[in-house]
Amino acid sequence: MSNRRTFLKRAGLLTAAAAIFSPSQIFAQAKGVSKPSGKKELELEWCPFTAKMKHVFTIANSSRSTTPIVLTRITYDGYTGYGEAAMPPYLGETTNSAIDYLKKARPVLKKFKDPWMIGTIMEEMDAITTNNCAAKASIDIALHDLVGQMLGQPWWKIWGFDATKCPYNSFTVGLDTKEVVREKAKEAASEGHLIKVKLGRTEEQDKMMINTIREVTDTTICIDANQGWKNKHYALDMINWLATKNVNMIEQPMPKLMLDEAGWLTERSPLPIMADEACQRLTDVRKLYGHYSGINIKLMKCTGLHEAREMVSLAQALGMKLMIGCMTETSVAIAAGAQIAPVCEWTDLDGNWLISNDVFHSSTVEDGKIVPSSDPGLGLKMNKGANLKYTSQE
Ligand code: MG
Repeated sequence: MSNRRTFLKRAGLLTAAAAIFSPSQIFAQAKGVSKPSGKKELELEWCPFTAKMKHVFTIANSSRSTTPIVLTRITYDGYTGYGEAAMPPYLGETTNSAIDYLKKARPVLKKFKDPWMIGTIMEEMDAITTNNCAAKASIDIALHDLVGQMLGQPWWKIWGFDATKCPYNSFTVGLDTKEVVREKAKEAASEGHLIKVKLGRTEEQDKMMINTIREVTDTTICIDANQGWKNKHYALDMINWLATKNVNMIEQPMPKLMLDEAGWLTERSPLPIMADEACQRLTDVRKLYGHYSGINIKLMKCTGLHEAREMVSLAQALGMKLMIGCMTETSVAIAAGAQIAPVCEWTDLDGNWLISNDVFHSSTVEDGKIVPSSDPGLGLKMNKGANLKYTSQE
């Protein structure tokens, strides 16, 4: 009961905060910003793309070397906003399903006379299908890039965030041979990052992974078990052991549906327990409250920045910890995630470094911390020779 009372009290505070800082007020104040002139119609186009990974990427249940992506762009009044749908296979979206969705979304988007009402536009985008979260995110991200450019500011500034508060970013060291793990861990530590380690196989394999890293560096480690531990007592034993190895966080230790077990673990764990697979959208945050220490927000799961910003507010009102994560993504989606980085305790935005054929650049990492671009919108610049062909056809 006390949890419920605390939730209601905090939810009330959130509503009050939302009333003070409504996006329409921000937009209203920005009227009159100078702009190039062009066709005043929201024109959506897309470009299929295959992200090639520098190293084969292995997590508890799978390995892969490429990730299908659909890049998008929305033009309006002489401005161009860029978006991205990144679709690792376990999310259930494909290049074809994303393009099918975008074809349906295109006429719906055109109904809007301008891009300002991102909330209403995204409600309509959401109503087209129940799934396609990454494809929806590609529209949301392009709209934010577009509207940020029209306002002349990056979103972290529009939202009033302090970019100097970005935490150390984590760099994932995947499951691999001892030699490769040592080499990658050394590289990550020398650049000032935290090291993120994917666990969730056997106890022997998991402990060997940590001990191998500890042979070469004392850098703080974040753990992602990707639902790999099936027994709460085993999970607690592992976490107690990890707490002696300079580990500062455990992400999704147990299967996402084992909510009561997650709560049991969070109550006893010496380290914060973060929900990733268990947390997809805004409505999940309330369900996870009291069971997890916090949430890992990923734009491809939650349909983009508009909903991510709402998840931030709700989690903050509930006193839950925040993390911003990513898939294997180009700099388009990473630049979008970087807008949220200043209010997170952990940032895990390394998807663009793990690919060899990135097509844009924007946010950077300095001394191990994300530095979101200060340029308007998402601050995206297309890389030379990118040769992207956007179309509204097949
Ligand atoms: Mg994860």
